[in-house]
Amino acid sequence: MKSQLRNEDGVNMYPLEVALNQLTRVNLLASPTALNRLRRVEEEFPYEDGIYIKRDDMTGIGCGGDKIRRLEYILGDAEDQASDIIIVSGPPQSNLCALTAAACAKLGIKCINVHDGEEPTEYKGNLLLNHLLCTEAHFIGNAASEKEAYQKRAAYIEDLCEKYRAEGHRPYFVRNGATTGYGMLGYARAILELQKQCKEKQIDKMTIFTPGGNGGISAGLIYGNALTGQFFDIVVMSVEDDKDYLLHNIEKVIKEAEEITHIPFGHNVLDVAQIVDDYRGEGWGFSTPESRQAVFDFARLEGIFIENVYNSKVVVGMLDWIKKGKVSGPVCFLHTGGFGSLFAQY
Ligand SMILES: *Cc1c(COP(=O)(O)O)cnc(C)c1O
Repeated sequence: MKSQLRNEDGVNMYPLEVALNQLTRVNLLASPTALNRLRRVEEEFPYEDGIYIKRDDMTGIGCGGDKIRRLEYILGDAEDQASDIIIVSGPPQSNLCALTAAACAKLGIKCINVHDGEEPTEYKGNLLLNHLLCTEAHFIGNAASEKEAYQKRAAYIEDLCEKYRAEGHRPYFVRNGATTGYGMLGYARAILELQKQCKEKQIDKMTIFTPGGNGGISAGLIYGNALTGQFFDIVVMSVEDDKDYLLHNIEKVIKEAEEITHIPFGHNVLDVAQIVDDYRGEGWGFSTPESRQAVFDFARLEGIFIENVYNSKVVVGMLDWIKKGKVSGPVCFLHTGGFGSLFAQY
């Protein structure tokens, strides 16, 4: 498919851009998010080619973060389905739950947060924000194992959806931590935004360092980059699973996106991106001594806050790659937010 369509700058659009423009997208994002240089980090961790930050922690709703880009398409899908209740699940400090609640407030649509575990006696971090948003929160109690927790949650959500359907509502469940075909397309779109910013700054090659949890962000970046001329090198820092598991998740989400856009990815993920599992420590939610230090370093040097679960591990990995000479040219840390959860981490 060769598109003759032009975008607002009079440039021929990539087929990806054409496909994205055909999807329903709710307008949530304050875009473009800033692309800034981290001068003090560059001085302290010497690197002459430039260390940049993409401020996806400042996406304009709630405490900001990656979920806003993803929710633009996910809630667009919900709109297509004429949904009137959004249901989302996660741990009490879930950034996704908090940002979905904030986005739904802006859209004037009901949001229900389904949380694992017991209701805490004190509301901190994201839970406090959800409380201020007057979001309906359900705490479904503890489970003996991760598998049991998964089953319990799935059954609870199914019952909840059933109940609302019986009342004539159209509930929409935000699946899999927003790591879905629709969600990842928010990050395929982000590639176009970042490409434009780089051109304006006369940067002609850049390595993006991004966190990898379930793989939604990285899948979007990898897919978007592959379909738009591979302007970027992409390094995914796993914060949770080993490389093979994360790769598998990324491939799965790319397939989902292909079904939506009908544009084949046409590559092997590992030929067009790197997945690194050296900095994840014990996995999701377990910080390492280095990642804990990075939270302080980043705040002290730049006045920018990163949290312990995702971004601190990416910063550690990126700076270690720089130190070891494993990267050259401008690098970019994609700050995916999570600010709300920071207040429950100390
Ligand atoms: C949800 C979230 C991520 C998730 O990344 P995936 O690999 O798409 O699961 C990363 N960073 C922050 C701050 C998040 O809230």
